[in-house]
Amino acid sequence: MAAYEYETHEYDVVVVGAGGAGLRATLGMAEQGLRTACVTKVFPTRSHTVAAQGGIAASLSNMGPDHWQWHMYDTVKGSDWLGDTDAMEYLAREAPKAVYELEHYGVPFSRTEEGKIYQRPFGGHTTEFGEGPAVQRTCAAADRTGHAILHTLYGQSLKHNAEFYIEYFAIDLIMSDDGVCQGVVCWKLDDGTMHVFNAKMVVLATGGYGRAFFSATSAHTCTGDGGGMVARAGLPLQDMEFIQFHPTGIYGAGCLITEGARGEGGYLTNSEGERFMERYAPQYKDLAPRDYVSRSMTMEIREGRGVGADGDHIHLNLSHLPPEALAERLPGISESAKIFAGVDVTKEPIPVLPTVHYNMGGIPTNYWGEALNPTKEDPTAVVPGLMAVGEAGCASVHGANRLGSNSLIDLVVFGRAAAIRAGKVVDGDAPAAMLNQASVDAAFDRFDGLRNAKGGVPTAELRLEMQKTMQADAAVFRTAKTMAEGVEKMDVIATKMNDLHVTDRSLVWNSDLMETLELTNLMPSALATITGAAAREESRGAHAHEDFPKRDDKKWRVHTIARVDGNKVDLSYRPVVTKTLTTEAEGGISLKKIAPKARTF
Ligand SMILES: Cc1cc2nc3c(=O)[nH]c(=O)nc-3n(C[C@H](O)[C@H](O)[C@H](O)COP(=O)(O)OP(=O)(O)OC[C@H]3O[C@@H](n4cnc5c(N)ncnc54)[C@H](O)[C@@H]3O)c2cc1C
Repeated sequence: MAAYEYETHEYDVVVVGAGGAGLRATLGMAEQGLRTACVTKVFPTRSHTVAAQGGIAASLSNMGPDHWQWHMYDTVKGSDWLGDTDAMEYLAREAPKAVYELEHYGVPFSRTEEGKIYQRPFGGHTTEFGEGPAVQRTCAAADRTGHAILHTLYGQSLKHNAEFYIEYFAIDLIMSDDGVCQGVVCWKLDDGTMHVFNAKMVVLATGGYGRAFFSATSAHTCTGDGGGMVARAGLPLQDMEFIQFHPTGIYGAGCLITEGARGEGGYLTNSEGERFMERYAPQYKDLAPRDYVSRSMTMEIREGRGVGADGDHIHLNLSHLPPEALAERLPGISESAKIFAGVDVTKEPIPVLPTVHYNMGGIPTNYWGEALNPTKEDPTAVVPGLMAVGEAGCASVHGANRLGSNSLIDLVVFGRAAAIRAGKVVDGDAPAAMLNQASVDAAFDRFDGLRNAKGGVPTAELRLEMQKTMQADAAVFRTAKTMAEGVEKMDVIATKMNDLHVTDRSLVWNSDLMETLELTNLMPSALATITGAAAREESRGAHAHEDFPKRDDKKWRVHTIARVDGNKVDLSYRPVVTKTLTTEAEGGISLKKIAPKARTF
């Protein structure tokens, strides 16, 4: 057994992650007087949320008529009928409140002439239950909305005396023998000390796992650490096969050009200069949802109408927009286009390509953020002591495809919901639990094993192999053959985890070891993704299966539950929640309105 000295910290709640979701949860917990710690591997305001550009969806009706029921309808349809109806209702209903709360906390939103919060159109957001024109629902702080939200929430959390443990890396969950989460084991990156957090509630807010792919818009820190910890604790991941490709990553660099660029009037063209989205989505054109636009772009490229010397990308045009509008509404992306594509957006189009952007799947939860461990008898069984929020979680409001600007609102609505729930289930007066020492020791053993790994494969090499395989075989379009090959290749790659080589054995700022720990988290997520995709014989949302081009609600309107153990993935399924929280008589949406139908735009 590896002997590491450690310090023990006792809290009511430990939140792992200080992105939008983690900070909103932390703030809400601390506000209620729960003793709250927030552990984060990067400085809070460097979390990936800082990079969110376009905005946050809520039916404020500041720019024209809107209703939460319309927002809910769009979310249901956007999810391609895989989202959980209760959670989607909760999201759309609570969204306006959550945005006003952010405003009062001090988020510097862009404003209309009358001083109201400015809202822009975003893909898939419509009026009249998908019958009317596009709606302006996405609240924005220019094209730096995530930045504004994150800084504000960090300030508010400090104000409420939440305690921050910054540059602490969470290694593993501490689980009791009877399946209660008791805390988390952490490594302090800057001085090499070890820390055990004993908590009555652990909230995983560790973000997505975009870095399982070669080209992603997400930060290098988006390595699915929460999902990895959960998988090692024998708990499942849900709907991991649904990977969102954002239509407009900068060709080559992968950095994001916000959908807000199309919201403000930008449009895509092929090598013939044609606005091809008019053909694929006659009603909403360039503002059809992301899966739809990404597929259309890929078809254009495949059919020989891509732009550039290799005909392998598409143009995003903004130069017809007034330069003042670009400077006021899209200053950040004008800068990114200059730096990463060498393009002056007032004069030339930006070269773009669909790029991995968001993980619809994650740790299954109910709409209070409580983690689930579904069984056949009880598909909604809760894991005591564990919650998951933000991109790490799967409530599931995004189903098979997330609408743009629905993630930022998911962070704050469910971060807040988790805090409300914790206020009810966590007893601040109860004594701290006796920690399961075997679980603590197991975490240190695993850590020590990796620290001293003397195999033949360097971490960076194996990571690249995984990323390239995922990029090629879990792509925008998928076939039975490519996915079967992907599963086989990933099996071989995952087996090499036993043969890793770590060069640096120190405990202080050892990025080699940290990246190795991250790879142990990316790997189960990648395995669950490709295996779940190969099994799902239908097309739904972001999962476009060429051999099964139709959605099959009879067989496949179910959530995939993946349990990953080493390189083995065990799949089972659980029903989608189809019941609303309120009835039509109570002002809710009628079930008839949201019944599954063909998804066209
Ligand atoms: C470029 C870009 C632009 C986007 N734009 C928009 C937009 O305009 N609108 C929208 O709705 N959505 C947008 N999204 C999606 C949205 O921003 C993300 O889904 C969301 O910010 C994720 O937030 P989060 O709080 O879940 O996680 P993150 O912000 O990723 O934060 C994760 C946190 O977990 C911590 N952490 C992770 N692992 C560990 C560990 N092992 N130990 C300790 N701490 C750990 C990190 O330190 C970090 O604090 C965008 C995404 C990208 C990549």
